[in-house]
Amino acid sequence: MAGVTVDTRHWIGGERLDSAATFTDRSPIDGTPLAEIARGGAEEARAAVAAARAAFPGWAATPPPERARLLHAIADGVDARLEDLAAVETADNGALLRSHRRGVMPRAAHNLRFFADRLLALGHDDFTTRGHTNHVTWDPAGPAALITPWNAPLMLATWKIGPALAAGDPVVLKPAEWTPLTASLFADITAEAGLPPGVFNVLQGYGAEAGEPLVSDADIRRVSFTGSVPTARRIARAAAEHLVPTSFELGGKSPLLVFADADLDLAADLAVEQYDNAGQVCLAATRLLVEEPVRDAFLERFLHRARALVQGDPREEATGIGPTIHPRHLERVDGFVRRALAAGATALLGGGPHTELTGRTGGAYYRPTLLAGVAQDSEIVQEEVFGPVLTLQTFTTEDEAVALANGTRFGLAATLATGDRDRADRVAARLVAGTVWTNCFFVRDLAAPFGGSRASGMGREGGDWSFDFYCDLKNTVTAPK
Ligand code: ADP
Repeated sequence: MAGVTVDTRHWIGGERLDSAATFTDRSPIDGTPLAEIARGGAEEARAAVAAARAAFPGWAATPPPERARLLHAIADGVDARLEDLAAVETADNGALLRSHRRGVMPRAAHNLRFFADRLLALGHDDFTTRGHTNHVTWDPAGPAALITPWNAPLMLATWKIGPALAAGDPVVLKPAEWTPLTASLFADITAEAGLPPGVFNVLQGYGAEAGEPLVSDADIRRVSFTGSVPTARRIARAAAEHLVPTSFELGGKSPLLVFADADLDLAADLAVEQYDNAGQVCLAATRLLVEEPVRDAFLERFLHRARALVQGDPREEATGIGPTIHPRHLERVDGFVRRALAAGATALLGGGPHTELTGRTGGAYYRPTLLAGVAQDSEIVQEEVFGPVLTLQTFTTEDEAVALANGTRFGLAATLATGDRDRADRVAARLVAGTVWTNCFFVRDLAAPFGGSRASGMGREGGDWSFDFYCDLKNTVTAPK
């Protein structure tokens, strides 16, 4: 890990805490062991929640400008350790080092600064009813459990940590077991910034062993989760026991609609972008829906770009696509593809693991893949693969395009490539999606609401919507003098 030392014990109440057992964290780049990680269970979860609970009155009473100052200090710490964080994250999850350096880690710092500033700008509704004043305040809700996935570990964690801490809620973060490292480094950064003990805690371990007792704890007042649909169901059941509000950012099967009037070079660029992070992005537009007359022209441009992608070590500047997260995940991705091929699909690109690279390195490399000849009701079109696997379907009318786009149980995002603004507005209005991008992708302002419809999630975060979630709103009504 480029000489960076990470303390992989839990971080609870401002102290490092061990567990009796550990598990081995390996790099998806070459399978090498990176660290032994504390394997938390119910006891450590209880300790972490107790620490957050003990810190709650002090943190809730900390004036917003001071909370904001501390968040800025943590963000500065992220900037100061950007190289270490980027190197460790790349070793741990295999996403491109240059993206971590230039995009992901700066964004993690930005998440913290954005919510610090937003806190100070929060509007307070004051109005009068028959002479009585109504004063509406955003009160801290209490300890929050944050459960995060492995595809963008620290970035997604700060997307939750920022608003939770700004709102006055202490947090317990349970990072994904495949990518535990940057959460531990981040704990050091919070301590160096002077965050009081217990306001930020890290619980390491497996989902069922550490995550489950954490989200089931009676002292947790909010649960924010990014991950898979089956896990969301389990968490929703646990949170229901104590009537705890949950925020879920789940999977997607988002479409990219390419209309005949689109700039086809731009459309091809947008399509190839979907292989970023080896396709392990919840927002990825994995279903290419192309208007029939431009299918071949689009495909030619797409294949030209996709074949130029260099697959290999994500630490190298020339690499365009790295490994998938884990050999087990690679197997899962390949299972989807094999079943699709058996059902009659054709691989226009890739169609299997990169066996030579995987064998030589010991990593988990899957070839960028495009499958055509897929039916709308087939597994490969309906289920999230979470790998570098796209499908190609065609349409002939706008109605058909919309029906195909909306024809899964998900509703996270959609991307349109079209040269016609009226069409873009018309189609966007009919799509079931939390975000619709036209002639662009992944442009994300933190002030905008973010989340998914249907099986893609519950609730929206970003801007004041995050404060809606992490706060208990209170209205204080006072009679006239
Ligand atoms: P994936 O299938 O992408 O690994 P998961 O939804 O299983 O996604 O995991 C996302 C996060 O949820 C991880 O941090 C994982 O440890 C955690 N997790 C898994 N199961 C549970 C559970 N029952 N309760 C709480 N957290 C869980």
